[in-house]
Amino acid sequence: MKRKALIVGGGPAGISAALYVLRAGFNATVIYSGSGALEKAEKIENYYGFPGGISGAELLEAGRGQARELGAELICAEATGLSWDGQFALQTTEGVLRGDAVILATGTARKRPAIENFSKFDGMGVSWCASCDGFFCRGKQAAVLGAETYAISEAKELLPLAAKVTLLTDGADAPEVLPDGISVDTRKITALEGGELMEAVVFSDGEKMAADRLFVALGTAGGAELALKAGAVMDGGAPLVDGNFQTTIPGLFAAGDCLGAPFQVWSAVAQGSAAGTSAAKFLRDMK
Ligand SMILES: Cc1cc2nc3c(=O)[nH]c(=O)nc-3n(C[C@H](O)[C@H](O)[C@H](O)COP(=O)(O)OP(=O)(O)OC[C@H]3O[C@@H](n4cnc5c(N)ncnc54)[C@H](O)[C@@H]3O)c2cc1C
Repeated sequence: MKRKALIVGGGPAGISAALYVLRAGFNATVIYSGSGALEKAEKIENYYGFPGGISGAELLEAGRGQARELGAELICAEATGLSWDGQFALQTTEGVLRGDAVILATGTARKRPAIENFSKFDGMGVSWCASCDGFFCRGKQAAVLGAETYAISEAKELLPLAAKVTLLTDGADAPEVLPDGISVDTRKITALEGGELMEAVVFSDGEKMAADRLFVALGTAGGAELALKAGAVMDGGAPLVDGNFQTTIPGLFAAGDCLGAPFQVWSAVAQGSAAGTSAAKFLRDMK
């Protein structure tokens, strides 16, 4: 069987990576959900080859069509977790997908929530990865910040460990369906409190809720969150990559806006192509 790369992200970085993996003779599965930056761009006028400009949506579809023609498998699903057990296992809303290499091309990292003392407790109670830090919550009070599929998936990981798991939606509606054992609180959060370590979440009505850990899971998991789950070293808010766009985990690559500036189509295409080339070399050299 042909070796396979899983690519998270169907924007210019992910699709360019897929083109290079496919043209090197390997399989590529692209997983994407929701809209990325390119579909929001009304007109791209600074990209090579389009003198009159082209809409982001058109450019995106042209790339996806090109990848499909080459044999890429495109799956509409949200990636929520990543682990390695001899092969990469990507947890998604459509089940677990397995691959020999993974390229993260998830677009811009999310903003940090505007909650007082959030930065003070980042790493001192605030956490970005349930599978990495859930163990520290054994028998303790865990809170998860978020209201969507990814937040529920993080909360589920904490259930067997923490004494209590509460989903904090920070003003958003509660999810319609919640697994047993997870509580929900929809009040707006104003601050985090504690001494050296975080001890409580403060709501806009002044009430406090004891919490030893706050797991941030807003929107969907980005490249940073997925890389963290696989055990990769971070560089600020993004996965640390070498000159071949490989993270500190062999076979795990990252490219495009999820690595930071310059947030342009050319850089996403260039980094995606380089990551795809490196992933193909990794697949070729595998024992
Ligand atoms: C309004 C606007 C105008 C712009 N104008 C220009 C311009 O004129 N020129 C220019 O060069 N650049 C422009 N840009 C920037 C450009 O669009 C981005 O730099 C480029 O799209 C980045 O490509 P990317 O593949 O890294 O990320 P994106 O295009 O953001 O794609 C990310 C992909 O990852 C997927 N994804 C994320 N998380 C998950 C998950 N957990 N599971 C599954 N899928 C996931 C998303 O659905 C998406 O398919 C503009 C951006 C915006 C928003």
